[in-house]
Amino acid sequence: MLRCSLCVHDERTAKIDIIDGRPICRECQVYLRHPVDRERIRAELEELMKDVDRAIVAYSGGKDSVVALYLAKEVFKVPELEAVMIDHGLMAREAIENAGRIARALGVPFKVLRHDYSDIFRDALLKAESPCRRCSKRTMEKLRKYALRNGYRYIITGHELPFGHHPYRLMSGGVVQIRLLSMMTEKERLEILERLPFEFPELPGYTTNCLVLGPALERYWEKHGHSFEHRRIAALVRYGLMDREKAEKETSRPAVPAEQKKFVYRKLGLDTLLQE
Ligand SMILES: [Zn+2]
Repeated sequence: MLRCSLCVHDERTAKIDIIDGRPICRECQVYLRHPVDRERIRAELEELMKDVDRAIVAYSGGKDSVVALYLAKEVFKVPELEAVMIDHGLMAREAIENAGRIARALGVPFKVLRHDYSDIFRDALLKAESPCRRCSKRTMEKLRKYALRNGYRYIITGHELPFGHHPYRLMSGGVVQIRLLSMMTEKERLEILERLPFEFPELPGYTTNCLVLGPALERYWEKHGHSFEHRRIAALVRYGLMDREKAEKETSRPAVPAEQKKFVYRKLGLDTLLQE
């Protein structure tokens, strides 16, 4: 099987051509023609942050949102911040604990809004699809409404800009999403986490807060033989933000603890799937 020499795509996940004797996937070919300018994006982000005097941080208690909160408070010194978590009903207990502990340590007010996303999760598991896009879209919409109700113009998120060329996005109602981790390496993030009272939960997949991701990845693997996070993780490797070894691990078949799986399927009323 051909494997891209620049990222972690292979023939299961992307079209691969031989270019000058090297296997290179189509996404890397586009990247080579239009490289992402890391310095420019970081400079754009710094310029934008100068105007931010009041913002909410989309705060999931996962490692990236924790790093975003730290940067907003300690590096960009945003004068007025509020950390807002949308608890979708299947957050890891450790994530809620991490979230509270770190917001307290940084002296940022922390709010939890509870919403039930069972419909999205049930649907994804039944169809062996990724729940992530719909979950993230709903969360951003809830945060946008919260921002409008409370007079905030900016929502800071822990996104890393895997696709796209700007570190911000204009949402309706004049709200601006700022992807504060744009083009930040995995190593830089881990260095920040080491300074914070963050405890890594034992969860399968590229998550430090969600109980559904592991079981959803497993279902998807059974059907497709690869991870639905493959494309995003391949982009991180291509941009030099994650090393290959870590990426191989993140895209390999997840080992979901039986207890976590049972808990998630029961909670969603999908026990029958477990007996298959
Ligand atoms: Zn590639």
